[in-house]
Amino acid sequence: MSAIELHNAVKEYQNGDEVIRALKGVDFSAGPGEMLVIIGPSGSGKSTLLNLIGLLDKPTEGTVSLNGDDVTGWSEGKLTKARKSSIGFVFQDFHLLPMLTAVENVELPTMWDPGVDRHDRAVDLLKRVGLGDRLDHTPDQLSGGQRQRVAIARSLINEPDILLADEPTGNLDQDTARDILDEFTRIKDDEDVAIVAVTHDQIFTEYTDRTIEIVDGVIQ
Ligand code: ADP
Repeated sequence: MSAIELHNAVKEYQNGDEVIRALKGVDFSAGPGEMLVIIGPSGSGKSTLLNLIGLLDKPTEGTVSLNGDDVTGWSEGKLTKARKSSIGFVFQDFHLLPMLTAVENVELPTMWDPGVDRHDRAVDLLKRVGLGDRLDHTPDQLSGGQRQRVAIARSLINEPDILLADEPTGNLDQDTARDILDEFTRIKDDEDVAIVAVTHDQIFTEYTDRTIEIVDGVIQ
């Protein structure tokens, strides 16, 4: 079963009197343990597609299924819960809180969950991404690659089925980018998550199972 599946997804934006058809009937699926990369020129619909996959936005037409459940008509509240339990996000600029330590940043998504103590899992995840000796460092005491590893550990804290990455190596040099891609490869194998990355970085194509090219709202 696919972790996430879009069927004939159309996304239109209203811009004054103009309707912008950003996705023109897209079929997409990603399964457990699969790493996909989405490429395409600027303005082709990559972010729009990532927002639909991440349940951050709804299609104008078509359906979205999460682990086999059609979630297209779900309320915002139900989608937020599903997003939190099933989807992890990694961004180009890491999105770490500067005053928190590495382990606190990883625990952050669970901080408001009553009765949940994810400290041990946070420590374990940081050890797994090679930061066992950096648990109490704040982001300014870490390199760019180490910050992205913290962000990756944080994205896994709720044991997601899908990890979405938006230009995750955009701020990293090529050697560090390869380290991060090795990390993604380990994660998809060990945790059986589906990894979907939007990127301009060519080296992704050496690591991915599938490359999806989108041009003008259409998958090629
Ligand atoms: P990409 O990520 O490939 O650069 P986007 O998904 O951001 O492409 O954008 C696809 C198209 O949709 C572009 O023409 C963009 O201008 C338009 N678009 C994206 N978001 C909005 C929005 N919130 N309102 C109006 N138009 C948008």
